[in-house]
Amino acid sequence: MAKQPSGVMDAIVSLCKRRGFVFQASEIYGGVGNTYDYGPLGVELLRRVKDAWWTRMVQERRDVVGLDSAIIQHPQTWVTSGHVGGFSDPLIDNKTSKQRYRADHLIEEKVAKYRKKGRDKDADALQAKLNASLGDNAALRALIDEAKIKCPVSGTDDWTDVRQFNLMFKTTIGPVDTGDNIAYLRPETAQGIFLNFKNVLESSRQKPPFGIAQIGKSFRNEITPGNFVFRTREFEQAEMEFFVPPAENDHWFEYWKSARLQWYIDLGIDPGKLRLRDHDADELAHYSTGCTDVEYEYPFGWGELEGIACRTDFDLKRHSEASGTDLVYFDPQTKERYTPYVIEPAGGINRIALTCLIDAYEEEQLEGDVRTVLHLHPRLAPITVGVFPLVKKGGMAERADELEQELRRAGLATFYDEKGAIGRRYRRQDEVGTPFCVTIDGDTLEKGTVTLRHRDSMEQETLPSGELVAAIRERIDAWTRPERKA
Ligand code: ATP
Repeated sequence: MAKQPSGVMDAIVSLCKRRGFVFQASEIYGGVGNTYDYGPLGVELLRRVKDAWWTRMVQERRDVVGLDSAIIQHPQTWVTSGHVGGFSDPLIDNKTSKQRYRADHLIEEKVAKYRKKGRDKDADALQAKLNASLGDNAALRALIDEAKIKCPVSGTDDWTDVRQFNLMFKTTIGPVDTGDNIAYLRPETAQGIFLNFKNVLESSRQKPPFGIAQIGKSFRNEITPGNFVFRTREFEQAEMEFFVPPAENDHWFEYWKSARLQWYIDLGIDPGKLRLRDHDADELAHYSTGCTDVEYEYPFGWGELEGIACRTDFDLKRHSEASGTDLVYFDPQTKERYTPYVIEPAGGINRIALTCLIDAYEEEQLEGDVRTVLHLHPRLAPITVGVFPLVKKGGMAERADELEQELRRAGLATFYDEKGAIGRRYRRQDEVGTPFCVTIDGDTLEKGTVTLRHRDSMEQETLPSGELVAAIRERIDAWTRPERKA
């Protein structure tokens, strides 16, 4: 029997700290809210998630190219994109507890409560009212009263008015703050792509339909706490703007929805916990003709992993008007000039990494024992092979050391461990998702064979050490998600 315990988030947070995936940022100074550092294993996991995304989105395709644009762009960028005027959250304070909340989140929590109690009609009605009230502070405030929402800390309904709070981090360009040199840390990577549309078009010989992809840090001054690294103030985004002739918009929207869902399945995530959720018309930005989220069923409920949005020609047109640079495409064959429409798959690397950890986590019931194991896809696992001499003596440690060097030279991520009982060494690797362990024993010295042990099945096989690299590569390629009982 296998299970994911109900306290899986607590278990993941504790595992991440204990084994060096994620630490609280500035921990020795008491930490910074919603900000984390990634330790030795965490940084490897992030790198592998980014590699998997880049491989699928850029390297395997002829019609997508990459970009790495600056975090601080011309401040006008964010005026034109609408972020200076509109990228804000509705905040409300409880006067008794002095706690601050996002008003829309409080209402969403009430909707979820109704659903849990089977009061679907009430849930639908409240959700509809919320959608109609977004962007209207007075209407949101009235809805908080109407839904009789109380502060989760003080239990009172002693609320302030709702105010809008812009999520962009401000800084200044140059050493002195003169008031007219304000700049912003980018809240999304997408705008850097739009600003470079013409540069890329002219330098890369692409023509619509084609995409520009980028992975990089984004910053949002998020107010509400965020389920560990699910919502943080700085995070890495993976975004791709796919520029298409307007008539092909619907075709490519459908294409990217299914391509993006498939990528998560190929990463080994449980397809039963993934879904595509189309936004209702009243959830869409005014310029958007459609948006679908890839969602995952987290221990705290369904949440967005990635959004796939139809941005139409909104961004390119606005930047053309504001900058005076013509961002249209001229098709030399049809002699047609048009502003391409854009389909944007946008995901968060940290959120994807967290999702992989949650989905891979299992406390497996063995006879009289519980095994903590991460069934990560071998391509995502921070360590690919654990290398152990059965005992330190008799030349086994030296041979194991040599073999580990060989594996490293072959490009495999290894971890050498000669301490403690072999069973405990296996378990330490299971807990961080290492898919393979190799044990060097007396037979290695006599016959040149090693034992290859598999994380998911715990099965062992004996191989000539010279075949090890090829065998591991083959098993990585052949890996499939092990069946697990819920
Ligand atoms: P949310 O509704 O969760 O705030 P969003 O719809 O504002 O997200 P987008 O602007 O579409 O998010 O960003 C694309 C992706 O970036 C999200 O799907 C998510 O994976 C990631 N992301 C957004 N905000 C954060 C954050 N504060 N922390 C971590 N990842 C984030």
